[in-house]
Amino acid sequence: MTKLRLSPSRVAEFNNCPQLYKYRVIDLLPEPPSIDAERGTLIHTILEDIFELPSGERTLANATDLLPERWQKQISEKPELANLVPNDKEFSDRAGALLSNYFALEDPQSFEPTYRELHLEMDLSEKLYLHGYVDRLDVAPTGEVRIVDYKTGKAPKPGWEEKALFQLRVYALLYWRNHGVVPRLLQLIYLGDTKLIRSTPTESELLATEKTLFRVAEEILKAISEDSFAPKPSKLCDWCYFKSICPAHNS
Ligand code: SF4
Repeated sequence: MTKLRLSPSRVAEFNNCPQLYKYRVIDLLPEPPSIDAERGTLIHTILEDIFELPSGERTLANATDLLPERWQKQISEKPELANLVPNDKEFSDRAGALLSNYFALEDPQSFEPTYRELHLEMDLSEKLYLHGYVDRLDVAPTGEVRIVDYKTGKAPKPGWEEKALFQLRVYALLYWRNHGVVPRLLQLIYLGDTKLIRSTPTESELLATEKTLFRVAEEILKAISEDSFAPKPSKLCDWCYFKSICPAHNS
């Protein structure tokens, strides 16, 4: 039996709109690159690479100096990006501001990360494979584990933090199942508005996360077997590349 591959982003996609999940995951329809997503990739690359430098050289100036070279590398790997940015200065100013916000929230000279871009995976059942890439995972000398994710957007409004933490709870569940240790801290770093969301996960929260994953997996498997992916119109439709072919907007 082919296992269903799930990641936190796929779960969020299906929950937001099953039709969008179908376009992306089942039909594998291509989408043009987005300037915000590519800027996000660039910032993630620099926040990964900055830790290659000796501790004392992890400064905002050195991080900012990496921007042009890393962006050119991104373009060489994906040439269609060359025409994506209408205003180079605006693009690099915005990227520089996001890096500046990072240094306002964290001092990368004060610790050594244990893992960057760590791939966590496991078979949750014979029908379900779960995986995800963790931006950073730090293990303290005392053994306590911190899972960190960088976001280049703004923090969610009050009341929506739990939804935002789902992704990190999935990573915590994977780490717990693979290593037998419940991470001590989950930390979302929002560079768009210089905010942090932190949470100390409990075993019961992680078990509830696992239950949610099984529920969503069952819903996806049912949608696949019935070939029925209901569109779920929302304000996200205004940014959806598939709006012009979506049945919710073309009846
Ligand atoms: S346009 Fe809206 S309803 Fe249609 S696929 Fe996109 S997000 Fe879903």
